[in-house]
Amino acid sequence: ARQRLRGFADVLPVTPDGKELGLGANISSLKELEVALSSGAYGVGLFRTEFLYMDRQRFPREDEQFDVYRSVADRLGGKPLIIRTLDIGGDKQLDYFELPEEDNPFLGYRAIRISLDRTDLFKTQLRAILRASHYGQVKIMYPLISSVEEVQGANRLLEEAKQELLLEGIPFDSQLETGIMIELPAAVQIAELLAEEVDFFSIGTNDLVQFTLAVDRMNEQISYLYEPFHPAILRMLKMTVEAAKKNGIKVSVCGEMASDLDALPIWLALDVDELSMSGHSILEVKERLLRTNQSESRELFAELLRCRTSADIHDKLKSFVKAVH
Ligand code: PEP
Ligand code: MG
Repeated sequence: ARQRLRGFADVLPVTPDGKELGLGANISSLKELEVALSSGAYGVGLFRTEFLYMDRQRFPREDEQFDVYRSVADRLGGKPLIIRTLDIGGDKQLDYFELPEEDNPFLGYRAIRISLDRTDLFKTQLRAILRASHYGQVKIMYPLISSVEEVQGANRLLEEAKQELLLEGIPFDSQLETGIMIELPAAVQIAELLAEEVDFFSIGTNDLVQFTLAVDRMNEQISYLYEPFHPAILRMLKMTVEAAKKNGIKVSVCGEMASDLDALPIWLALDVDELSMSGHSILEVKERLLRTNQSESRELFAELLRCRTSADIHDKLKSFVKAVH
């Protein structure tokens, strides 16, 4: 089957009725980049930078980070690369960085909150990313955004880093785009305000489902409640994409839901620009995309919005998929 799918690597990801949907890769190492490239990814929609910080006994220096970001940019040869700033805390810990004992680490000191507190660490990463932007089509993305203030705070530090590099005569892409993860219910509710601050959104469905439904994404005992096809999630996705479109910015999806074949009609109906997923899933999703019409997906989505339960939504998606086959 993989052999048959291989044949799709160079095929344009477009529906029979002409909707093109960019299929990018999520990576967290250079090795994963190779899988992504051999699957025909248009680029990297999510580079999780945590591994750079986890693989050692101290914070990575600017040069060390720059080397890695630049290698990825070089290997991509001009294809887009979205680098997400450090997203630790919650379940992800660093041996050398003592985080406080917290009752609720997932609601605690983590991700952009650490970056805005430890501006020294954040600036180091921003400088490294900016420097790499000279060697490819690099974009920056901030995780776990919950307010306009956080975006403005992060962008202010980015400006500072740019000024420093300018003074030092170090080249970077002055047009570099910035974006945010939409992965908290608050971000969905203020998506119209956030859209005015950034160039793109990427919907992180893993955390969005967790926080919207108040269901720990790691807790097996309640995993039956972790339901991406919940009517609440459907509405949040719709709100986010509409806010992006109203403001003329791009919107992609980078959580696990992006590679769920059952969810594909949802992305087509909402008319998102890109999906980003594990390199291993790209060909499978592309094969399905080549056989799924956007117009029919839109009709289906109108029905999904009338469903009262997750089970009903999932059933409708399943029977739609059967009809596609
Ligand atoms: C997400 O939350 O959907 C996401 C893509 O980020 P992570 O899984 O790294 O939290
Ligand atoms: Mg997340």
